[in-house]
Amino acid sequence: MINILFAAPPERWDFYADALHEALDAAAITACLSQDLPPEDVDYIIYAPNGPLRDFTLYTRCKAVLSLWAGVEKIVGNDTLTMPLARMVDDGLSRGMVEWVTGHVLRHHLDIDRDIHRRPGDWTPRIPPLAADRPVTILGLGTLGLECGKALAGLGFPVTGWSRTTKEVPGLTCLHGKDGLGEALKTAQIVILLLPDTPATENTLNAETLSMLPQGAVILNPGRGPLIDDDALLAALDNGHIGHATLDTFRIEPLPEDDPYWHHPKVTVTPHIASETRPGTAARVIAENIRRSEAGEPLLYLVDREAGY
Ligand code: NDP
Repeated sequence: MINILFAAPPERWDFYADALHEALDAAAITACLSQDLPPEDVDYIIYAPNGPLRDFTLYTRCKAVLSLWAGVEKIVGNDTLTMPLARMVDDGLSRGMVEWVTGHVLRHHLDIDRDIHRRPGDWTPRIPPLAADRPVTILGLGTLGLECGKALAGLGFPVTGWSRTTKEVPGLTCLHGKDGLGEALKTAQIVILLLPDTPATENTLNAETLSMLPQGAVILNPGRGPLIDDDALLAALDNGHIGHATLDTFRIEPLPEDDPYWHHPKVTVTPHIASETRPGTAARVIAENIRRSEAGEPLLYLVDREAGY
């Protein structure tokens, strides 16, 4: 019998329990899955950073911590975590992000707001733009950035992706490293942040890098709040260099009511809803990792603790 602790907020149990039981059965894993197990008996931990678990010291026989979240910034530096950590890569999560990103890119590309707020009598036709004339840059070309990049390229947008290491993706211009960032930004009319939150990515968009963007560029941040220097962004919105920012993630969440982003006419706030782990697909990923671990095979989606993601 394998003992699996579900260490997510208690209210998530109903959301995940059936899917997890089903996926474990399908993988022929006989397990006791519970929200409450003696730490010394636990073989695997299914973890969410907003759950109750902070100290892993007593989980002496635990073979792996399996995160329900793609972003691991809240756990990766935890000194009590000595066992392998796998992050979530879930097809449902990826599809959700592709839909959020595509929707918000098209909103800005087509200037849909203008039509929504059109006054009676305002019959001023214009030639609609084509995606081919709207360069888009995605900062972060990992699981989510890549899927979004492929979807946007499929719609005809010229897509540039930026990552830490070298990549080659058919149909996308791929740049990497510090030198590649300026190149990735200089033509980008829409920039999408899908980087992890690490010491190296903090303030990726700051006064200097924002100034590299063309006048009127639009920023979408479904990544993490610390990727942007907020004061620099507000200044660039105020002076007109940046046309709009659609922000889903923030340094403090929920975003405090008096935060200037709420009231800024060129900012759209969404409450960290760009995407969500989907139990049906995510449970299969968890079960597969447990199967692999038990079979002595390498785990999928292991976090590089040094790189922080
Ligand atoms: P991945 O780990 O698959 O991809 C991360 C990408 O960022 C990689 O391309 C990586 O480069 C790149 N990167 C990391 N550090 C640097 C750096 N210093 N310089 C340049 N590029 C860098 O993550 P995912 O795509 O799965 O997820 C991305 C983020 O999206 C998550 O970390 C999370 O913060 C956020 N997220 C937000 C959600 C929401 O609802 N708002 C939902 C889910 C995730 P390389 O490929 O070379 O390693």
